[in-house]
Amino acid sequence: MPRTIIVSNRLPTKVQRTADGLTFQPSEGGLATGLGSIYRADDNVWVGWPGLFVEDESEQEFVTAQFADDSMAPVFLTENEIRDYYEGFSNGTLWPTFHYFGQLALFDDDLWQAYVAVNEKFCQAVLAQAGPDDTIWVHDYQLLLLPEMLRQARPEATIGFFLHIPFPSYELIRVLPWRAELLRGLLGADLIGFHTFGYMRHFLSAVSQLLGLSSQHGQIETPTRTVLVDAFPMGIDYRRYADAAASEAAAAHVRAYREGLKDVRVILSIDRLDYTKGIAQRLRAFALLLERYPEWRGQVSLLMVVVPSRDQVAQYQELKVEIDELVGRINAQYRSITWTPIQYFYRSFPFEELAALYRLAEVAMVTPMRDGMNLVAKEFVASKADQRGVLILSERAGAARELSDALIINPTDTKQLAEALHEALVMPEDEQQTRLANMQALVKQYDVFAWTKLFMSRLAHAKAEQHSLA
Ligand code: UDP
Repeated sequence: MPRTIIVSNRLPTKVQRTADGLTFQPSEGGLATGLGSIYRADDNVWVGWPGLFVEDESEQEFVTAQFADDSMAPVFLTENEIRDYYEGFSNGTLWPTFHYFGQLALFDDDLWQAYVAVNEKFCQAVLAQAGPDDTIWVHDYQLLLLPEMLRQARPEATIGFFLHIPFPSYELIRVLPWRAELLRGLLGADLIGFHTFGYMRHFLSAVSQLLGLSSQHGQIETPTRTVLVDAFPMGIDYRRYADAAASEAAAAHVRAYREGLKDVRVILSIDRLDYTKGIAQRLRAFALLLERYPEWRGQVSLLMVVVPSRDQVAQYQELKVEIDELVGRINAQYRSITWTPIQYFYRSFPFEELAALYRLAEVAMVTPMRDGMNLVAKEFVASKADQRGVLILSERAGAARELSDALIINPTDTKQLAEALHEALVMPEDEQQTRLANMQALVKQYDVFAWTKLFMSRLAHAKAEQHSLA
């Protein structure tokens, strides 16, 4: 029976080295949940990096055996590979370029070579698992070359690819010295998925302008095959968030938070530390709200969670300093003995507490400069059982294409953002309810399980069409 092989940079299980030896913990990411039902079924398997350096051979065997029991196959990467392929080319070149921060991108051929070599390593790891008839689903920007590498080795394989970040305008892509190789790498797939039609159009335009391949109705004719391109906006596990926020555990957390907050109204902001997220701009907008509308002083707090991320990279360290300073300045300027304008947390929260924060907050500010999708926006929507709450959402998050009932803003327009905050704080309850009900219906229907099913069925269909054309 044909199997499905999922491939991503990281496995859905975190391995950590502790005083008691190696420990294995399931990761709670959306991808792991959505694909959990696939890779654990039948003989299917998930291929990826286990998240730590394991150089000793007997330790590698131990880790491999542990993972095999849970349908996973680890790809062991060295410290140099992680530095050059992951932190270097993936996060230092592709991440800024694809998020329209081209000026931050590194152009270093050594990093590129490492990227090619690690994609090749992943290719070997997949080939060790996959038979000729198997379906292979490759994920994200760390593995753009993998579809074509796999195609060379297994011309008949069914290969899908999904990009979890934006695909930018051709004008950004054309700057990369390795642009043609990257596009050709992707075209090894039978189906290439993006979060939005906008990203899909940018990809088709880049393929046309850089490779001279035209397309019709999302089908690209390569000299050997037809490649289908389509949009699949990723969803969340709606029930999990709705249930967690409605639970007694979340209610208990909310009561405890309320003891400290009194009746101050709460605006929520949650992201990984990243320059794409617009965190500093958001802080400036909150300060402008307090300046323009002094009546909110003492009445509203911004509860801001910044999850540490990529803290080895200089740009991220500088951003952290900028945020620390801004928070300090705004709090020093506006605080009173009994009120703190910004409650700032630089850490991650366990799932139950996150659910409680979503339940507690009246307004969520999701204002990235660029974001492939943004799941926090959908999680906030799912968590509002009483349909009270307002989502402020950046027009440049993929989620804005679906969540048109949010207050949609341009995140660089500080004045517009401050006004949107005021509007959210005074929005009548029936309007909040109408907007949330519309968004909930959508997020509930297109959850992560529907997303997985749709992608897999489109992939099977694309392959069947190719055969009928051949
Ligand atoms: N998240 C988390 N712990 C936290 C804060 C956030 O696990 O303390 C999760 C959040 O629930 C969401 C994810 O991190 O599922 C962030 O995904 P998103 O698409 O918003 O942004 P990304 O970090 O992938 O750029």
